[in-house]
Amino acid sequence: MEGKFAGVIINRLALNIDRMFHYSIPDGLLGKIDIGSHVTVPFGNGNKTVDGFVLSLSNHSDFDGTLKEILSVSESGPLFDREMLSVCQFLKQKYFCSYISAVKTVLPPGSGRKNKVSDKLIRGSVLNVPYDEAFDALEKLRDKAPKQCKILELLIQNDFVADSDILFLTGAGYQAIRALKDKGLARQETVEVFRLPIDYESIPRSASPVLTEEQQYAVDRICASVTENQNNTFLLHGVTGSGKTEVFLNCIEKALEIGKTAIVLVPEISLTPQMVTRFAARFGKKIAVLHSALSMGERADEYKRIKSGEARVVVGARSAIFAPLKNIGVIVIDEEHETSYKAENAPTYHAREVADFRAKQHGAAFVLASATPSVESFYQAKQGNYQLISLTRRPTAQNLPTVAVSDMREEIKNGNRSCIGLSLQREIRKNKEQGEQTILFLNRRGFSTFVSCRSCGFVIKCKNCDVSLTYHKAKNSLTCHYCGYTIKKPEVCPNCASSFIKEFGAGTQKVEEELHSLFPDLSVIRMDVDTTSVKSSHRAILEKFDKEKIDILLGTQMVAKGLDFPNVTLVGVLAADQSLFVDDFRAGERTFDLITQVCGRAGRGEKQGRALIQTYMPENSVICQAQEQDYLSFYENEIELRRQLNYPPFCDIISVLLTSPVLNGLLSYAKKLARSIHIVMQKDYDGAFELLGPSETSVTKINGRFRQRIWIKCKMNRKAEDIFARLRSYHINEKNPHINMVIENNPFGAI
Ligand code: ADP
Ligand code: ZN
Ligand code: ZN
Repeated sequence: MEGKFAGVIINRLALNIDRMFHYSIPDGLLGKIDIGSHVTVPFGNGNKTVDGFVLSLSNHSDFDGTLKEILSVSESGPLFDREMLSVCQFLKQKYFCSYISAVKTVLPPGSGRKNKVSDKLIRGSVLNVPYDEAFDALEKLRDKAPKQCKILELLIQNDFVADSDILFLTGAGYQAIRALKDKGLARQETVEVFRLPIDYESIPRSASPVLTEEQQYAVDRICASVTENQNNTFLLHGVTGSGKTEVFLNCIEKALEIGKTAIVLVPEISLTPQMVTRFAARFGKKIAVLHSALSMGERADEYKRIKSGEARVVVGARSAIFAPLKNIGVIVIDEEHETSYKAENAPTYHAREVADFRAKQHGAAFVLASATPSVESFYQAKQGNYQLISLTRRPTAQNLPTVAVSDMREEIKNGNRSCIGLSLQREIRKNKEQGEQTILFLNRRGFSTFVSCRSCGFVIKCKNCDVSLTYHKAKNSLTCHYCGYTIKKPEVCPNCASSFIKEFGAGTQKVEEELHSLFPDLSVIRMDVDTTSVKSSHRAILEKFDKEKIDILLGTQMVAKGLDFPNVTLVGVLAADQSLFVDDFRAGERTFDLITQVCGRAGRGEKQGRALIQTYMPENSVICQAQEQDYLSFYENEIELRRQLNYPPFCDIISVLLTSPVLNGLLSYAKKLARSIHIVMQKDYDGAFELLGPSETSVTKINGRFRQRIWIKCKMNRKAEDIFARLRSYHINEKNPHINMVIENNPFGAI
């Protein structure tokens, strides 16, 4: 541990400062402070102390006067090492965020806090009172005690939440919890905490099957990189069930054999018990699993096992890319095209880009696997930047499912108004007779279950965000999916007092009701955000479907991916074309991917599977290519469109989003910025660019903040990075306390 002086960043996200402050290290602490140490320091003019993180150490200081001294250092040792520091610098440069938000991103939530992580879970007694009472309390609290109101909303939505998580998620203090307890609206319970998320030891071990020739070739090529410390990127392209997972399990085995470690990222939704069990069966306690459903205590435990070296394979969702592993041999991103790999909040990193950076640092092999690679990645492979490895066959005898399209316009003509067409009804019936199971997938993108008045057309919207509230039948409530604002569903229209106020759109609940009336003798189980909000209910639903041989599993995106049930031989896609019409240039890609994935759930056992796609536009090219399950023609078509319209990968799209609680001043500021960006780009950027806006976003107000956006289309390079970093400093120096700026490269969607 070198140095008498330390550069420290202050642990306050709200402070609009983004620089290191220098402190000297007192003799008593010499040797105890390193990069990543969590320290307390005096700050400002008074005798305020704040905490912060050490980012640099040196033996001399350029500062003339006397530096203040570091006061104390956390006993538990540094929270990150030099490699993670370089990851922070990467985040800062690439995603235009502050040092402190970069550091917070790489640390597991909860670390670096003074209070020790609590194991207690808190359960709101709202669950035991009629919902009406809870909602009444909610309304009373809304203006007087907004923090308590937020907590209550969280409890209504989640049934129980660990108190440390409540503080973290709502920003409320302990006194708000106490106040709720005093009012009898929340009850603190100590629930036995399930610390190790999976009992890895209890899962029987299983070895690799004999690989097919194609699989062996893939393993050999990737392993050559692993053993020779070569940082190569591979795109492993193979239809669902072609044995991709088996390939990377073998590569990881190799990495472990030679003393290296591995990270496997999977989308949150496919982090199913099945997937985890498969890893545990191969690697036992050597795996650690990280995902958002872990309590902070569980997460802390997994991190401990990683740091101690017991866990050497980290399997997890997006943020697992920051796992503090040493000597990484291989990083795998499964279903690499998934949009959930991109963070939604600043820094809006893409796990693929961070993985690429870490793989380079470690000389690790980097494997991207998908049945429907992102257009960007496939393009890289075509250009020769990634090594393309294809798996063209399923190793088992099973064929790919046969896919048929059912034209819903015909159904309407024939007078069938059900969202389940006659052909699909026939197939479901047939499946039942053969004792086989069915998965129905409702494409919910673009769908909403908003409540509107059939008399006057009034739509109930969020009072903070300019979006309609979503109806939740079980709780008879309306919730905003952006800010969480929740109210009881009104009995009469707030606008015209008509009692003819009803939910609109086909949600999974409505389809479930329809199924019950069409097939009273069939069992149905539903899986969506509403039925899985309680921890581990996801697992319970799937187990029930499997063990009790429920006839139909109905669900949203959650059933589209990763599931592997041999007795499922029929998949029905309801409203296949809904996602073609969202305001996003990736709409076609997503639709193709969703249909392909969900069809891949059929016929994974011995029996042939079949899929039926219900659509109003069977002639649409994306629907046709999805029916043919023809990725290559989809890609050729799509890349040509992207080229013509100048979308990624041919250029990058940078969004500069400005938000403010007051409309006044926002637009003029946005206009001023747009003009400045234009001038600076003309002067300092070395290529073609296009500037659009400022304009209102498609949702004009979220969480009480108005939004204006400027789009810049250009190729992202060092010059552009410098320009946007300067833009950020300029904004910070302008000291516009109301206006917040977020710069994002290639955002997904644009609300
Ligand atoms: P993917 O990840 O491409 O969807 P998986 O690796 O999950 O494919 O393989 C699909 C199924 O085939 C799994 O049940 C797996 O156990 C099985 N499988 C994979 N490779 C082989 C093989 N070489 N021999 C026999 N079965 C295999
Ligand atoms: Zn009305
Ligand atoms: Zn809202």
